[in-house]
Amino acid sequence: MEHNYIKLTYKDKIRFGCLRCGRCCSSGPNVGLTAFDIHRIARFLDLNWRELKGRYIIAVIADMIAIPTIRDIGGGRCVFLEYINRQPSCSIYPVRPIRCRLYPFIPPNLSKERIVYVDRCCPGLDTGAEIDPPWRLLEEYRLETKIHYSKLYRLIFEEGYQPLNALERIIEDVKRTKTFRREAIRVIH
Ligand code: SF4
Ligand code: SF4
Repeated sequence: MEHNYIKLTYKDKIRFGCLRCGRCCSSGPNVGLTAFDIHRIARFLDLNWRELKGRYIIAVIADMIAIPTIRDIGGGRCVFLEYINRQPSCSIYPVRPIRCRLYPFIPPNLSKERIVYVDRCCPGLDTGAEIDPPWRLLEEYRLETKIHYSKLYRLIFEEGYQPLNALERIIEDVKRTKTFRREAIRVIH
C-alpha cells in the first residue's frame, strides 16, 4: 500500500472520525511495541512474555537490538484482529499498543515534539469533527519509547546482555517495579 502523509504542527487541526473499517489492522500494521505495551498486553491476556513471544509478538534482531512488533498472520493482518458480526474488532482493545491508539497520527521521531504526520490512507480523514492531534498521547508515546530504548541500549552495550535477554529484562522490570518508570525518567533526563 502506498502511503503519503500530511504534516501537522502544534496549532493545526484536522477533520477525523474513525469509521471502524479495520483497514489499519488488516493491511500491514507492523505495530512497534515497547516493554510498556508488552506488559499491558501480557497482564490483560494473563500470559507472560515467553507465552506471548512467537504467538502474538515477534522480535526482530537488527543491529544487536531486539525490535518487538505485533505478529502479522498473513497479508498484513494483525493477530489480534477479529470479526464480530462481520465487524472488525481488536481483541485487546483496552490495552492496544500506543501506536494503534495514535493511528492515523504517526510520530516523526522522538526529538520533534511539535510535529506529527497523518497517514492519508486512513478513510476516516475528512470525516467527523475538526480535532487537535493527540499531543498528550504522543508525549506518552515518546516517554515510553525513550525509556524503553535507553534501557535496552544500556543493557546490551554496557552490561553485555544478549538482545532478547535485554528485552525480557525490561519487560520484567516494568512488571515488577511500580517505580520503574519514575526512576527511568530520572535517568534519561
Ligand atoms: S483509524 Fe482509519 S483505517 Fe483505522 S479503523 Fe479508523 S478509519 Fe479505519
Ligand atoms: S492490536 Fe488491535 S488495534 Fe492494533 S493493529 Fe492489532 S487489531 Fe488493530
